Amino acid sequence: MADPAPLLQVEALSKNFALKGGAVLHAVQNVSFSLRRGRTLALVGESGCGKSTTGRMILRLIEPSAGSIRLDGEELTAATAARMQALRRRIGIVFQDPMGALNPRRTVGASIIEPLLVHRIPASEHSDRLAGLMKDVELDPDFARRYPHELSGGQRQRVCIARALALQPELIVADEPVSALDASIQAQVLDLLLRLQAEHGLSYLFISHDLSVVRFLSDDVAVMYAGRIVEQGPKAAIFSQPAHPYTRALLAAIPVPEAGAARVQPLEGILPDATQLLPGCAFASRCPSAMPRCQASAPPLFELPGGQRSACWLNESAQEAS
Ligand code: SF4
Repeated sequence: MADPAPLLQVEALSKNFALKGGAVLHAVQNVSFSLRRGRTLALVGESGCGKSTTGRMILRLIEPSAGSIRLDGEELTAATAARMQALRRRIGIVFQDPMGALNPRRTVGASIIEPLLVHRIPASEHSDRLAGLMKDVELDPDFARRYPHELSGGQRQRVCIARALALQPELIVADEPVSALDASIQAQVLDLLLRLQAEHGLSYLFISHDLSVVRFLSDDVAVMYAGRIVEQGPKAAIFSQPAHPYTRALLAAIPVPEAGAARVQPLEGILPDATQLLPGCAFASRCPSAMPRCQASAPPLFELPGGQRSACWLNESAQEAS
């Protein structure tokens, strides 16, 4: 049976920011991916690679410069403000910093039901919905009367997840949702996200710099570097046979907890200047396999066996015949 149409389809999405002095920052360039229903696509890469900007463009919190974003076939970039407001019921968002995401003067209960007020859900439904949401995220109902500063970091992130679920969305954009939490709390919140996905049929766009978290949660992975996707494919393929030198460098940098295990190999160098569009591969200045050709022309995303794609000239001969 053919794969059903994806819930989210992003094509050739780009974002340029105009800077003072006339310079242009090319934050996201020509990014394409799709997310199937009930699945998790992880967008991974170092800080500043454009993954959070991409997530915010999907909610139109940042306006794209070019490209297409379709939710269930409907073009979001063409939606009016009123239509976008309605479509946001179908997309929840969870940010990295739960303290910053919550109003310190609002109780937990008021924060969770805030989307119900914005979307004019009848007040008669609020208390039942609040009770259900707090149960969903395993928070004691008494916490509804507390304020964010009275909660732990993990509890605050549960509040943010409950708020993201308030309108019964199909898609959750989760931007580094566990990176501000201790490791033991991270595991609890990741388990919660997996359970909620199974129970509610949620689809996740999971944005993270942490490949060990991505390995735990995702079905598919898209690796971003300097505003572009350089490799994407099923999680198993990306982790077992990474095709792009940047993905290999990220994987080599995953900390290994066991005593005596191989140590972290940090990726040397820095991201290229996003105000300069160079003709070659953006990773060339840091790539241990760079060749003269890499400086001259940028590789396309080559289609590899098993649904993997990689933007590296080294993969040109491995591409599938189309
Ligand atoms: Fe490295 Fe060249 Fe491949 Fe870019 S195209 S990742 S510089 S080998």
